[in-house]
Amino acid sequence: MEDLLAQKNYSPIPAESLATNVGERCAQVRLWLEERGANLVAVSKLQPSEAIADAYALGQRHFGENYVQELVDKQAQLPADILWHFIGHLQTNKVKYIAPFVHLIHGVDSEKLLKEIDKQAAKLNRKINVLLQVHIADEETKSGWDAQELLAFVASGALTTYTNIEVKGLMGMATFTDYLQQVENEFASLKSLSQQLEPYLATTPNLSLKELSMGMSGDYPQALAQGATLIRLGTLIFGQRNR
Ligand SMILES: *Cc1c(COP(=O)(O)O)cnc(C)c1O
Repeated sequence: MEDLLAQKNYSPIPAESLATNVGERCAQVRLWLEERGANLVAVSKLQPSEAIADAYALGQRHFGENYVQELVDKQAQLPADILWHFIGHLQTNKVKYIAPFVHLIHGVDSEKLLKEIDKQAAKLNRKINVLLQVHIADEETKSGWDAQELLAFVASGALTTYTNIEVKGLMGMATFTDYLQQVENEFASLKSLSQQLEPYLATTPNLSLKELSMGMSGDYPQALAQGATLIRLGTLIFGQRNR
């Protein structure tokens, strides 16, 4: 086990190699992740639109936001080709505000929310991409499907009825702890669940398992080691958030 883990790349990006300018830093990190098989979602919540514009100017297109009103305001101000990811907890009554433009909703943690996204997408005559959020942490506060519950849901065929939804993969948040082996085990459990869902791809046309959204500023090396395809980084790119 130790040997296997030792082969993987755990080293974070050396802090001294990062540019001080936000746009350059974002481009550096994006390239670094791409070389390791993952795409960067630059988490811009509570950051000013100017910081997003700096990252955009140097090629960043995927941005993640947690709050509906803030996302709606920024979307109206910033370039139309930005791909907006909603990564926070989404209340069903707010889906309608982001449905017209959102690129990917990461935190879909219940069938009730799936149903509402499907309904709003149908009204707009579009398909909305989502990730199903799985509860992998050893903390009550993080939401998501229980793994067995999600397997049973997909096996039941219920997902196929939501024809305006495209499930692109899974999302998870690890426990907030310094014990990084636990964090990596939790990411491994998300990857394992994705593999267990593979048999249902053939019978579920709106299911793909291409994406694994896991890893933040404090744990992205562990997420990469377990095959993350989307890494959500805020602090590492933009610095501390203004509360
Ligand atoms: C805020 C947030 C992030 C980014 O966190 P950092 O530690 O600043 O990188 C990633 N994912 C989710 C779901 C978040 O809420």
